Amino acid sequence: MTEDRETELLARVPDGLFIGGEWRSATDDQQLRVFDPATGRVVKKIADASPADGKAAMDAAAEAFPAWAATPARERAELLRRAFDLLQERKEDFALLMTIEMGKPLAEARGEVAYGGEFLRWFSEETARIQGRYGANPEGTGRMIVSQHPVGPCLLITPWNFPLAMATRKIAPALAAGCTVVIKPAELTPLTTLYFAKLLEDAGLPKGVVNVFTTSTSGAVSEPIIRDPRLRKLSFTGSTQVGQKLLEQASQGVLRTSMELGGNAPFVVFDDADLDKAVDGAIMAKFRNIGQACTAANRFIVHRGVAEEFARRVTERVQGFKMGRGTEDGVIIGPLIDDRAVAKAEELVGDAVERGAQLLTGGRRGTSDGLGEGTFYEATVLTDVQAGSDILREEIFGPVLAIVPFDTEDEAVAIANDTEYGLVSYVFTESLSRGQRMIDKLQTGMMGLNVGVVSNAAAPFGGWKMSGLGREGGAEGIHEYLQTKYTLTADPYA
Ligand code: NAD
Repeated sequence: MTEDRETELLARVPDGLFIGGEWRSATDDQQLRVFDPATGRVVKKIADASPADGKAAMDAAAEAFPAWAATPARERAELLRRAFDLLQERKEDFALLMTIEMGKPLAEARGEVAYGGEFLRWFSEETARIQGRYGANPEGTGRMIVSQHPVGPCLLITPWNFPLAMATRKIAPALAAGCTVVIKPAELTPLTTLYFAKLLEDAGLPKGVVNVFTTSTSGAVSEPIIRDPRLRKLSFTGSTQVGQKLLEQASQGVLRTSMELGGNAPFVVFDDADLDKAVDGAIMAKFRNIGQACTAANRFIVHRGVAEEFARRVTERVQGFKMGRGTEDGVIIGPLIDDRAVAKAEELVGDAVERGAQLLTGGRRGTSDGLGEGTFYEATVLTDVQAGSDILREEIFGPVLAIVPFDTEDEAVAIANDTEYGLVSYVFTESLSRGQRMIDKLQTGMMGLNVGVVSNAAAPFGGWKMSGLGREGGAEGIHEYLQTKYTLTADPYA
């Protein structure tokens, strides 16, 4: 029954490139295979774009731009609102599709549909509120008008870990602002974006306003687009390493850029924390998306007075986690995205243990019966992780919870800030003044104070330091796709 449902859904997902409002195959007829990481099986073959296809997508976005920019804000808003409504109708399809191609448990995939959908609703509401200002210049002789204009055609590049939300978080503000886009989803999870493009088409999207290409050669197809003088904006979510490369390419055309990059989030538990809340928060911050989130807590910095109790409680919770394919009831630990991710978790845990960390649970590739060829890694807890361990420096991107004890507040702050990343931090304390001090001292663009998840379409999501540039969501999100013009008019009385 489930298998029939999956086959029927996969058959409805387009397998072509979406360019200028048409679905077409790749010019050289190449195909890209998409896998289910829980089974290792190929679930669908789709078009594998070449640079010529990328150029066609850029042509379509450039051609559609003037008319879309001139479309009344209300009409743009209504398109996004219809897309939001259609997403609610198709939410089970989207959730199942993400579980199939990315591996996250179905319950979490449903959560992502809700979160991803909020960007459509939020930015449909923001569309009509793009405002400028008008005033006399200080000398009183002229009038100053400040107006906002769409930046132009945009290239959006998204990662595999949140296939729907990363796409809507970029497409919705771009369309709201009056920009047209070319979007390139990750080659590991392209189906959700293709299915979303179909939804936009059903919602009445004008031709060329959103164009999608899927490819196994991301660099070769996207670089000419980034160097195309008609492109005015690049918005990227992914690793810091690729982000740096794209910033270099974007510098040539002095493109506007938004970069949502890697993280190494500290999760600080003080001895005055409510431990029940801290443990619940830790489980959310660490194991959501099987640890594969840029916002995943990477280092648990726990006061020595409560470290043992905290470790005991999280270990107890983790030992109850069910591992398996995300479609099964009660699964919390789905597969990691690929074999490289499993190898990385193994290496980081191995290095930490070699340097003196204690392994409290987990630490092995998933071997439960019936898991076949899937890329599973057990939920793992390490404590007494020693300074200098790789796991404290690198993004784990897997279900491994690493605890580092501390003695003083200053020491906790120093450990938390000892990273080139600065996306998000989590702090658990019942002291208001300590919480306020942490807001001042922790070098991150976002902070969860006694909560383990901060993502929210109404808030400015983004990082400090090497975690990125710009913000997605909130009142700030639309400004990433707008440019300001100041006009001085002559004295109307002269
Ligand atoms: P990645 O950098 O490998 O890939 C991201 C996207 O870039 C994919 O679509 C990929 O195909 C594409 N890409 C890769 N090389 C390219 C090139 N040379 N030119 C153009 N495009 C290229 O990252 P990933 O493994 O897909 O995602 C995981 C990373 O994303 C983690 O570091 C995670 O922290 C980060 N991430 C950040 C946020 C955020 O909002 N800050 C959100 C989700 C994920």
